[in-house]
Amino acid sequence: MAEKRRRKIYDEYRQFQEEWSLKYFFIKSGEKALCVICNETVAVMKEYNLRRHHQSKHQEKYVQMEGKVRAENFLNYKINSHL
Ligand SMILES: [Zn+2]
Repeated sequence: MAEKRRRKIYDEYRQFQEEWSLKYFFIKSGEKALCVICNETVAVMKEYNLRRHHQSKHQEKYVQMEGKVRAENFLNYKINSHL
């Protein structure tokens, strides 16, 4: 019983979380997560992978972008990514 419960939580964890959009500029694309900045996909939908991508490739430019500015930028990228 405990094992079953643990697996369910694990599966949910692997699903795309809305908060990752603004945090890491990712959107869900099928079974993958798509970076709206560079259009690269991350096959394993785990927060660690998305964070690592964002930090290694886009951190410098976006780390200081917060709140409304960040949201507006994300929306612009999202529109331009045609998804
Ligand atoms: Zn990217």
